[in-house]
Amino acid sequence: MRSVIYPGSFDPITNGHLDVIVRALALFDQVIVAVGDNPEKESLFTTDEKMAMIRTATQDLAHVEVDHFSGLLVDNAREKGACAIIRGLRALSDFEHEFQMALMNRHMEPDITTVFLMPHARYTHLNSTIIREVASLGRDVSEFVPPIVNDYLKKKFGHG
Ligand code: ADP
Repeated sequence: MRSVIYPGSFDPITNGHLDVIVRALALFDQVIVAVGDNPEKESLFTTDEKMAMIRTATQDLAHVEVDHFSGLLVDNAREKGACAIIRGLRALSDFEHEFQMALMNRHMEPDITTVFLMPHARYTHLNSTIIREVASLGRDVSEFVPPIVNDYLKKKFGHG
């Protein structure tokens, strides 16, 4: 069975992330969506909240597992038996950082390959930061996020 790990902050998961998950499912037998616990990165949602949103957003997709990790991604990927790491590429601005990480990860774990997937063009401008900003100002973001995320955002910002 070929498992792939899709790591990220997912603060919160957006339709762009979901698009990447669906594409990954067409290529691999199982996709492990892994929320990174990064104490240095301030986040709006807790890891538990992020995982709950991802679970609900992916409940109709078979072969998706939701997990979290701290420490090195490649160590976690190896422990989980993943043969690859999925990352989404939206714009050229993603490239430099992703390229560095992919090469460092390959240096540490030569058997784990990083695979880059491009979302549908309609999601290339989407990121969690902009969703948080717009939602915090009371605007509707329902066309960009799964319904469960919309509910969590409304509750978080007291607009619901
Ligand atoms: P990070 O904080 O590590 O960038 P994110 O949660 O922002 O984590 O994203 C996780 C992964 O999903 C990254 O590879 C990122 O490029 C990708 N991603 C984020 N938003 C989108 C999107 N709209 N379309 C495709 N990929 C995306």
